[in-house]
Amino acid sequence: MTVIDELVSANADYAKSFDKGDLPLPPARRTAIVVCMDARIDPAKALGLQEGDAHVIRNAGGRVVEALRSLAISQHLLGTEEVAVIHHTGCGMMTFTDDDIRKQLKEQRGAIADHVAFLPFADLEQSVRDDITIYQQSPLVRHDIPVRGFVYEVETGALREVA
Ligand SMILES: [Zn+2]
Repeated sequence: MTVIDELVSANADYAKSFDKGDLPLPPARRTAIVVCMDARIDPAKALGLQEGDAHVIRNAGGRVVEALRSLAISQHLLGTEEVAVIHHTGCGMMTFTDDDIRKQLKEQRGAIADHVAFLPFADLEQSVRDDITIYQQSPLVRHDIPVRGFVYEVETGALREVA
């Protein structure tokens, strides 16, 4: 039995008591959240979200540049009008450089990834500020709405606003 088999089994239980099949497509709380994929962060629990409430856009690091496509769709087609960017303590993105992962990919897979920006960072709070700047410089997204940056502490479960 693979983990995916376990997930499928858990879903069968979830679907048995599922009663939210008539939610509207646009998020009820009109908010998009860009957050790291880190397994220790459960955005729904940590932020008090229910099904249908918000768009949660996740990637390695919670990097805005990789989320702009989704944010544009979220805002222009589905009506979200606030953005929270959340990076976190202990992020894996602080443990490597582009050169490190490019070298590993070349050695282990023969892959040439010189053109891929993996977007690691060394300074956590600065990475949030940098991502708010990238947001502000993008023509794809709205600039007349609240856009706020946070650090989530995996040690305490608390959010800290930094940008
Ligand atoms: Zn992370």
